[in-house]
Amino acid sequence: MVKICGIGAGYVGGPTMAVIALKCPSIEVAVVDISHSRISAWNSQKLPIYEPGLEEVVKQCRGKNLLFSTDVEKHVHEADIIFVSVNTPTKIRGLGAGKAADLTYWESAARMIADVSKSNKIVVEKSTVPVRTAEAIEKILAHNSKGIKYQILSNPEFLSEGTAIQDLLKPDRVLIGGNEEPEGQKAILKLKSVYANWVPEDRIITTNLWSAELSKLADNAFMAQRISSINAMSALCEATGAEVSQVSNVLCKNTKLGPKYLNASVGFGGSCFQKDILNLVYICESNGLMEVANYWKEVIKVNDYQKSRFVNKVVTSMFNTVSGKKIAILGFAFKKDTSDTRKTPAIDVCKGLLGDNACLSIYDPRVTEDQIQKDLSMDGVEWDHPIHLQPTSSTTVKQVNVVGDAYEATKDAHGICILTEWDEFKTIDYQRVFDNMQKPAFIFDGRNILNVDKLREIGFIVYSIGRPLDQ
Ligand code: NAD
Repeated sequence: MVKICGIGAGYVGGPTMAVIALKCPSIEVAVVDISHSRISAWNSQKLPIYEPGLEEVVKQCRGKNLLFSTDVEKHVHEADIIFVSVNTPTKIRGLGAGKAADLTYWESAARMIADVSKSNKIVVEKSTVPVRTAEAIEKILAHNSKGIKYQILSNPEFLSEGTAIQDLLKPDRVLIGGNEEPEGQKAILKLKSVYANWVPEDRIITTNLWSAELSKLADNAFMAQRISSINAMSALCEATGAEVSQVSNVLCKNTKLGPKYLNASVGFGGSCFQKDILNLVYICESNGLMEVANYWKEVIKVNDYQKSRFVNKVVTSMFNTVSGKKIAILGFAFKKDTSDTRKTPAIDVCKGLLGDNACLSIYDPRVTEDQIQKDLSMDGVEWDHPIHLQPTSSTTVKQVNVVGDAYEATKDAHGICILTEWDEFKTIDYQRVFDNMQKPAFIFDGRNILNVDKLREIGFIVYSIGRPLDQ
């Protein structure tokens, strides 16, 4: 029986290993993590992350061929294939700080694999890593090998949070990169045979190691670039009377472009886009490709600009100050159907409004109060917009209330900001909301999900991205 060990039980490691267990009943899958609290949550009724469909998959397999454990060494030792899905955040200090990927977690996982292994292993890079990371991993493993042979494969994950289970069950592609020697090709075939249990052969792409590693960075950079491109157009729409939804509809119908990632919004978030583009920028700079680095830097700059533009729009629309005014924040997660708040635009928008002394009443269906308070505490938090949105030193978390539903959040509010596209925000009784708000009542739709005409009929002053304000 093949044994798989997944190191890292996060947003990628948890769901990917669970789906492998579901689709390969004859494979034993152990998911290990150094975080005791995460593992005990995986073993409980309340999983550590929210993903539609995840609970069902875990319930079906846990206790059969899927287990979650903190005994990293035991399960690594027993495994034939080890997937490493540890975090690879942006380095915060030292060489490359603010751009390069921090591979500390990866390196410690590799050293531990070398320490405890007593048989040959396939080590799979599931995390997103800089191109040529496999070379470094190979060195660490080879120098500590005790005669054991390792094959390193790059198998980057393309799931999106919020649709992770669907993406894993029906992936548009599975990418496997390996070295071109016969042993590397053998390892590719072995990993391919795992995916072949449910993924059609024509969706499994094999490449060399470096193409696979770079493809993942390129993939995220291209998606983020589309969002920044349409968001840049939204600013121009507001200045000229064009409507971004009409413009994007025209672009979507271009079969050479396709419809995805062309919705204007308050900006992209999530743990990956910014970090992976920064990583790409760093790699370009390290290779002396300054112009190429600058090109990708602009994608992030436009995203930052979009968030600060949104805050400025709220403040200027509300008569140039939000000081002491209650603003309802609907949605805090970086996208719908996830509880993840990493790099969510809501953090920067809320901090910008707090910087202007607003009082925030926040509601998100899946994000906990603790998480929101943590994300908004000003201490030690990197501030992305030193020029536009500097928070005042008097800002305290007392200005923030986290509440249990949208009606409570909006009661007596002067304005509403929609920051996540949760479906439930489309079906709120906006007449009731309007009746209970201060007047004039403003709505700033940062996700363009609401029916602007209907809201205007009710009496709201509405701003949606890429349309002029109706004052
Ligand atoms: P995460 O922070 O949710 O999970 C990483 C886990 O690894 C944590 O639970 C941490 O405790 C654990 N860990 C760290 N070092 C360890 C070690 N030495 N041994 C055991 N466990 C260890 O991160 P994530 O969102 O799952 O992302 C993981 C990787 O996948 C990143 O490289 C990311 O860029 C990539 N990725 C993420 C997504 C996404 O949507 N989140 C999608 C595709 C790829």
